Amino acid sequence: MTTAIHWFRKGLRLHDNPALLQAAKEAQQVYPVFMLDPHFANPAKVGQLRYAFLLETLSDLDTQLKGIGSRLYVVQGNPAERFPELFREWSVSLLTFETDTEPYAKKRDQEVCKIAETCGVTVAQHASHTLHNLDRYEAKAGASPLPKSYGPFLKLFDSLGAVPQCVETVTVDIMPQDGSAVPAGEHTVPSLDTTPYPPLANPLLYPGGETAALARMQLHLARKQWIAKFEKPKTSPNSLEPSTTVLSPYLKFGCLSSRLFYHKLAEIYKASPGHAKPPVSLHGQLLWREFFYMCGHTVPHFDRMEGNPICRQVPWDSNAQLLAAWEESRTGYPFIDAIMTQLRTEGWIHHLARHAVACFLTRGDLWQSWEAGAVVFDKYLLDADWSVNTANWMWLSCSSFFYQYFRCYSPVAFGKKTDPTGAYIRKYLPQLKNYPDKYIYEPWLAPKAVQEKAGCVVGCDYPKPIVDHKQVSKDNMDRMKAAYAAQAAGSDDDAADTPKKKK
Ligand code: FAD
Repeated sequence: MTTAIHWFRKGLRLHDNPALLQAAKEAQQVYPVFMLDPHFANPAKVGQLRYAFLLETLSDLDTQLKGIGSRLYVVQGNPAERFPELFREWSVSLLTFETDTEPYAKKRDQEVCKIAETCGVTVAQHASHTLHNLDRYEAKAGASPLPKSYGPFLKLFDSLGAVPQCVETVTVDIMPQDGSAVPAGEHTVPSLDTTPYPPLANPLLYPGGETAALARMQLHLARKQWIAKFEKPKTSPNSLEPSTTVLSPYLKFGCLSSRLFYHKLAEIYKASPGHAKPPVSLHGQLLWREFFYMCGHTVPHFDRMEGNPICRQVPWDSNAQLLAAWEESRTGYPFIDAIMTQLRTEGWIHHLARHAVACFLTRGDLWQSWEAGAVVFDKYLLDADWSVNTANWMWLSCSSFFYQYFRCYSPVAFGKKTDPTGAYIRKYLPQLKNYPDKYIYEPWLAPKAVQEKAGCVVGCDYPKPIVDHKQVSKDNMDRMKAAYAAQAAGSDDDAADTPKKKK
């Protein structure tokens, strides 16, 4: 008799889950396990909303597993410490899991593989978090360097051939019925109130789990025209309802298979002549994800500036007060403060809103390191995803991938383009809700009488601007220019990345 543990980490789903499928097909008893690793259950690192999203996801997974005659076993503790006893206690001979390419996971999994070997447990890993197995990009590139930009990456992606089809969903016909002696009340999914996190004030705007993920995807797929025409730059950063899919939290945790979404999109594109194309289409978005995952997997020290071969070395300042003001919506720029409020209270913000606040914190206004900004995003985002977050922070700070530092987002003009009356600001900063449209993006310009009438005096009820954008953004462009020149002088590797102003 084969007894298997399927170890859920990401890939929190029954569909397109090759590692779970293998366990279900080869073993007569399967223990689907999730480990609540203290590395993650830490309110300083992982915000309350994402932790709640994870617990909801586990609850949904447990319900679905019960629906096919199994259940989820939630185990508290460090995997390297807990596995030996689980292997022994449950007489396990097979361990399956989805490959994870993040640095913490790579180290953890190597350790667990060694432990499994010592315990005589066979390990089977399957790559199913990305469109292709990330190792294939390196193998295909061979001796050539891996692409550092999207265009060449697309060529490499195309050279790998078709994206693998999804494997069959694990159903009641495949999954062995749970015959373990573990009492039903043991290893259950904890509720938020038994964790170090406070209870939620409101239900999550985006509920966790595979069920919610598939429902959300179907909702979008039903809008065939919208899918076919979707172009990211044409969506709005500050609409009151999201203008993009908000599938990112589900893709991050693997409640939704990126391959499933990719193939579903392909079906719609096939029937829609003239559909949008990468980089701006929805396929294009999944390919950005794939590109950044490949970079995260292959670039050493990817999440920091020092020692990272693709990252510009920029002498950022380190000012805890400025960082805190940005994080806590106290910059005095309503567009920036509203976005950061949405981030902290809802856990998701639009891509271009991320652009605006990331540019503001780094090269645009506050000249703080992108690494500090990435840590804040990593805490609050439901979709916080190590490779994607890191890459985008490098992009926005002009540290890698994008180098046109003379193109800077205005914290005033940018938001006005899609929301001239400031409805978004009024929603997230209600203290400003009575301001006339004319001053909603720049309340400090309103005459005192207008401020008093609106019931919000700048400097008293809402902060004065923390910096003068017009001045600091110019100064910062000079600083960036100097940083680029200093790096170019020390290396001959960057000529291709030197920014050229558009004529
Ligand atoms: P859609 O536009 O509907 O796109 C569909 C999917 O494509 C997304 O769910 C996501 O998986 C992927 N995708 C879209 N845009 C990007 C992109 N630029 N890079 C990589 N993948 C993309 N995305 C994360 O998933 N996790 C993060 O931690 C994260 N941090 C970011 C930090 C900064 C500073 C910036 C500028 C962007 C960041 N992004 C991150 C990328 C992007 O903003 C989000 O993926 C997107 O806004 C999620 O919303 P959506 O699901 O509606 O996206």
